[in-house]
Amino acid sequence: AFDLQGKVCIVTGGAQGIGYAISQDLVQHGATVYIVDLNHEVGEKAASALGAHFKTLNVTDSDQVNAVFQQIIQEAGQVDVLVNNAGIVRNTPAESTSDNEWNLIMKVNLDGVFACCRAISHHMLSRGSGSIINIASMSGIISNHPQPQAAYNTSKAAVIMLTKSLAGEWAARGVRVNAIAPGYVATPLTKKGMETEEWRKVWLDTIPMGRLAEPEEIGPSVVYLASKASSYVTGSVLTVDGGYTI
Ligand code: NAD
Repeated sequence: AFDLQGKVCIVTGGAQGIGYAISQDLVQHGATVYIVDLNHEVGEKAASALGAHFKTLNVTDSDQVNAVFQQIIQEAGQVDVLVNNAGIVRNTPAESTSDNEWNLIMKVNLDGVFACCRAISHHMLSRGSGSIINIASMSGIISNHPQPQAAYNTSKAAVIMLTKSLAGEWAARGVRVNAIAPGYVATPLTKKGMETEEWRKVWLDTIPMGRLAEPEEIGPSVVYLASKASSYVTGSVLTVDGGYTI
């Protein structure tokens, strides 16, 4: 039920971090994977290491999203799965957040997800099948108050509502839309945070499982939502957070 043989998947922001680990898992389950990322140097290397394809894409440019997705559809013949993983985070107190920073976070984390969903929707709806997986965050469910991330939290909460809205619109037409809400994942950024004793304590004390997730612990949930195993699942938010939001 988890087999992805013959399936074509697009992973945004797959050059590194969680997106890379997701791409690896999809490839291991037999899928043809297209990594699309702003960072073409790292992205090219990542794709060739995984046996995936790569295309440069800035998800904030909706014309570029339409063009690149069209190119992939032509090249691969079909797209079965879209994983919206590209995202950015900033730690800035709300009262000091500039318009530019607020807009950038919304542009990448929310507008980018919508642009990608819309760009693939015509193809998926006309085929009557497809699975879209949006990488939200536990920060879209609870306000992770030790960290000043109002813009980020808001963008991720909006992604969750976007997920449910699209799921509702497209459910009867064969396209499923779900979200994953990871907790703290051990990436270079979070590892750096763990170096200070103060944050180590704040983080580990607040995670019931007492540890961060490894990036490899997110991929299997994506495989589940991408595959037949989740054929009756749409509009759901799967938390993968070591119990943080309990
Ligand atoms: P990361 O910074 O390691 O990787 C993000 C990737 O997205 C990079 O390759 C980057 O080049 C790409 N990207 C950024 N802006 C882009 C754009 N405009 N267009 C195309 N590509 C772009 O981040 P990560 O920690 O792997 O996070 C991946 C996703 O998971 C994000 O959406 C993030 O919000 C979410 N998330 C992360 C954590 C965590 O603890 N790391 C927790 C919850 C959710």
